[in-house]
Amino acid sequence: MEYRRLGKSGLWVSALSLGSWITFGKQIGDNTAEDLMRIAYENGINFFDNAEIYSRGQSEIVMGNILKKMGWDRSTYLVSSKVFWGGDKPNQKGLNRKHVIEACHNALRRLQVDYLDMYFCHRYDHNTPIEETVRAMETLIQQGKILYWGTSEWSGAEIMEAYGVARSLNMTPPTMEQPQYNMFTRQAFEIDYIKPYEAGMGTTIWSPLASGLLTGKYNDGNIPEGSRLALEGFEWLKDATLREAHIEKTRQVTKIAAEIGVPMSQLALAWCLKNPNVSTVILGASKVSQLEENLKALEVVKLLTDDVMQKIEAILQNKPTRVWY
Ligand code: NDP
Repeated sequence: MEYRRLGKSGLWVSALSLGSWITFGKQIGDNTAEDLMRIAYENGINFFDNAEIYSRGQSEIVMGNILKKMGWDRSTYLVSSKVFWGGDKPNQKGLNRKHVIEACHNALRRLQVDYLDMYFCHRYDHNTPIEETVRAMETLIQQGKILYWGTSEWSGAEIMEAYGVARSLNMTPPTMEQPQYNMFTRQAFEIDYIKPYEAGMGTTIWSPLASGLLTGKYNDGNIPEGSRLALEGFEWLKDATLREAHIEKTRQVTKIAAEIGVPMSQLALAWCLKNPNVSTVILGASKVSQLEENLKALEVVKLLTDDVMQKIEAILQNKPTRVWY
């Protein structure tokens, strides 16, 4: 396993990590979740990602039980949660001080740990002053309940606003952002975050395989039974993911994967890993075999020569460019 610094912080995170969205507490059984975490850990993965909204808390419960059962030394792994969607009542959501503190307490209880290594604001809250959120995060840091706080899907300007407020209050600025980043979602990561990167921000990127599309499993136009895009209740995700233009580009990039002799999934993950602003690629898996395949992506990075990258770029035709006014 390769370890990368989380931005300019002193924290080392494995280049591949494991997330639990849709899978833990919902799509897969607890035994499979346990196998996934054990294999991940045995292969050097040190970061497990979670959120209060995942399976409405059940994902954290499943992960917490596994962490307890495994009995790994607490200093050998990182675990996260995210705050924003905790319930339907007015103060069970957003980034107000009450919910930020209560969601942390709930995550600690469900995960059965004394502190969270990373705590993310799952989205930007337009109804809470940023100073209130920064102060709440500082409280949790001072209490030792969280070690690093960060954002998820915030714009570069919103992140810099948080930096500025934290600095002006002599408090801790956000350390990391959790954005979507893959061959089809590039604008924020490659352009919008230039200033946060300069300020030292690290990234824990999500949906590196665009929910499985970039494995090539949807290339023939069918939706395999049991796959994520066939799941009941996720029709919105199917509609957002299965765009004909993206399927066609995936078909073409799959040919490049075949030329260099690797599965499409590994090529797509390696493409993310190649970007130096990626601190860790969060993997998702519903089966052990998928995780085992994906873990080999690190070996594929060296196969992505300039020539191969250019061929991929020529297919994707979506390299974001900076707009100059
Ligand atoms: P991916 O885009 O990598 O999708 C993972 C899914 O793709 C798997 O569950 C599986 O679904 C399929 N898959 C993975 N590998 C293979 C393979 N080798 N062969 C065939 N199918 C494969 O990542 P996720 O969307 O799961 O995101 C990863 C993590 O990021 C999440 O668990 C979560 O922790 C985080 N996240 C954060 C968000 C945020 O807003 N901050 C939003 C979303 C995710 P299946 O078998 O069911 O088809």
